[in-house]
Amino acid sequence: MAVVFIGFMGAGKTTAARHLAAVRGRAAVDTDALIEERLGHTIAEEFARRGEGAFRALEEQVVGAALGAAGPEETLALGGGSVLSPKVRAALADHTVVLIDVDVHTAWRRASGRRRPLAGDRRTFAALHAERVPVYERLADVILPAASRADPSRLLAAIDSLGRAPRRTRLLWATSASGEYPVLIGEGLLGADVWPLAQSRRFVVTDENVGPLYLDRLGPIDGEIVLAAGEESKTLAGAELVWRELARRGVARDDHLVGLGGGVVGDLAGFCAAAYQRGVPIVHVPTTLVAQVDSAYGGKTGVDLPEAKNYVGAYHQPGGVLVDTATLATLPDRELAAGYAEVLKTALIAGGELWRRVSEDAPVDEATVTACARLKLGVVAEDERDGGRRQVLNLGHTVGHAIESVTAYRRYRHGEAVALGLLAALRLSGQDALRAEVAELLAGHGLPVTMDGVDVDAVVAATARDKKRIGASVPFVLVHRPGDVRPGATVGDGELRRAVRELCP
Ligand code: NAD
Repeated sequence: MAVVFIGFMGAGKTTAARHLAAVRGRAAVDTDALIEERLGHTIAEEFARRGEGAFRALEEQVVGAALGAAGPEETLALGGGSVLSPKVRAALADHTVVLIDVDVHTAWRRASGRRRPLAGDRRTFAALHAERVPVYERLADVILPAASRADPSRLLAAIDSLGRAPRRTRLLWATSASGEYPVLIGEGLLGADVWPLAQSRRFVVTDENVGPLYLDRLGPIDGEIVLAAGEESKTLAGAELVWRELARRGVARDDHLVGLGGGVVGDLAGFCAAAYQRGVPIVHVPTTLVAQVDSAYGGKTGVDLPEAKNYVGAYHQPGGVLVDTATLATLPDRELAAGYAEVLKTALIAGGELWRRVSEDAPVDEATVTACARLKLGVVAEDERDGGRRQVLNLGHTVGHAIESVTAYRRYRHGEAVALGLLAALRLSGQDALRAEVAELLAGHGLPVTMDGVDVDAVVAATARDKKRIGASVPFVLVHRPGDVRPGATVGDGELRRAVRELCP
């Protein structure tokens, strides 16, 4: 299969294709250049002389022929509108399609004022972007953010690994200030030969539930450390146990760790990887819904203190994330429900298509997992270290973490506490109708929407200890509407107490 770059004007398809092709020692094929060669004049002139219809007919012919003739070692960049042709879309099925995902502002900045026929008017340009993005997304096997500085060899290795993965596996390329990495999402991915850090020894950290189910599906490993399951392991004592085991087994900086399990294993193993010998790489293999839609991405790692949750930790981006959605089949119902709270949180932040699906209670499938992963990766790409935008991911977590902490991390699953926290956040946002809608969705998925026997004052006091505190106040994330979620709101104690008390009828 050839590698074919698609995407909107200004995405950077031609440059990306050139870099990737260079790794293969070849030249990239740019279909716009082929068309201009055939015409003997520019595409802009063709639009002016004969109109868009005539151009599209020729484009379909030229792109169709180029795709038909493309051998497995070739790299192509297609014109942004070529995928509007059903024939071109059908021809793409034979190749690996890489979408360069560019936001409309960046695209406009790059494309306007360059005599591109469809980049003359900003409003029409934005409408075209909105119309085409879903088409690109449906076609893409790989999604690469336009801002990525991906090393072409590493990107090519990840793209090539798709050929050994189950059909319909998607590759998302994660970017952040401190590193880039591949995220593969596919059903039945474990067991495929797609490991992102192939040249180094693998030491797996897992728990007593997940290890027996999936350790033997990871391929060759060089050692494993199996912890007791649950939040109780996410402590400094748990981390010390892992570090000492790694030291005892002679794990060195050219080895890597694997976090196989839910968010507890991921956070703990990630923290151990961040600090062991001042940092060794880690590959996350998330097996809970919480981890597959949220915790495995973005590099936040850490452990709890008895005083408060996630109080000690580090940022440490993984070397790769492998998401096998088939592992959810063995997840107990209560854990699946807990993950649904993070799905709902993510959908509120994302708005748009993801919110539409979730609010209609569509099944949580691979497409939902992928959409949640993309939202999180997009937020982290903008703000890795919680300086601004990333704080939106904390929606529902301020009160949620406080509830977990005052109930000693035993009574509620993390996601269950987030469900309650979301309802408090929606009350503080003044969103009565949305709160009712969310409560119904949460309850329908077996999540708590009220709590009893929890001390309201203790929850308010624990909220004040939240690690996001700035000076005397804890900033809250509030929802203006799905898709418009803003951090940094000040909330008075009385208001907070009322929102928490409402959870205890
Ligand atoms: P978890 O890791 O405790 O897993 C839940 C339970 O499911 C455990 O008993 C586990 O053994 C079991 N399990 C896991 N996968 C299984 C499978 N496929 N089949 C059968 N059993 C399986 O809990 P979680 O909800 O995944 O994670 C919660 C943690 O994640 C919290 O500590 C939270 O703070 C953290 N978190 C971190 C981030 C982040 O950005 N780092 C984001 C969200 C949550």
